[in-house]
Amino acid sequence: MSRIVIAIDGPAGSGKSSVAKELAREFGFAYLDTGAAYRALAWVVLNGPGDTLLDSPDLAHEFRYDISTDPDDFWVRVGEVDVTESIRTNLISEAVSSVARNQNVRRFMKELTHQIAEDCNAPGIVIEGRDITTVVFPNADSRLLLTADEQVRIARRAKQLDAGEGHDLSRSVTKRDEADSKVVDFLTAAEGVTLIDSTNLDFDATVEAMELQIRKDLEER
Ligand code: C5P
Repeated sequence: MSRIVIAIDGPAGSGKSSVAKELAREFGFAYLDTGAAYRALAWVVLNGPGDTLLDSPDLAHEFRYDISTDPDDFWVRVGEVDVTESIRTNLISEAVSSVARNQNVRRFMKELTHQIAEDCNAPGIVIEGRDITTVVFPNADSRLLLTADEQVRIARRAKQLDAGEGHDLSRSVTKRDEADSKVVDFLTAAEGVTLIDSTNLDFDATVEAMELQIRKDLEER
């Protein structure tokens, strides 16, 4: 595939979704939120078939997933149902890590991500998740890990959810990171991956730091 791939990993609340979207706009690239597929699968499991679906050898047919890669027109669908909003609830956030632990699911998600990246018609794509720089696109043109201190991430997530800095929220971000990090190490940068710490950077400064690194990586290709 000759399309440029920018891979961004990071923990919950690191700001990677909004930063990745903005970078896609700046570069005129497509944008892919890979967490949405795990969330949509958790939504399906909770609304019907239960856990057995996760081990199906034919997930590609049973899970009819579709996502927009336009950073300015974002939607997620399962079959005919628009799940863009319903996959962001606390219920889904709490259920999603156990879905993401399933190795059959992870294999399927890797293929799905490659397929979506191949199908989009932009000169490049910014893809964000937990394992994109390491497992899904280890040969991406630019690989970045976006982190921030835990308290900063909790505050950002609170703002995003408009939920206040409650104890439950802090527990849920920490709990999800803990559960997720048993499956993928997204807290330390792998070889060739640049760590961007946004603890002391605002949104614009974070985008600028990422953009600078991406341009450098693309020049060195
Ligand atoms: O990015 P977001 O927080 O929406 O991701 C939801 C969940 O999906 C994560 O907590 C993680 O369990 C899972 N995930 C993953 N690998 C990815 C993206 C998300 O395991 N590449």
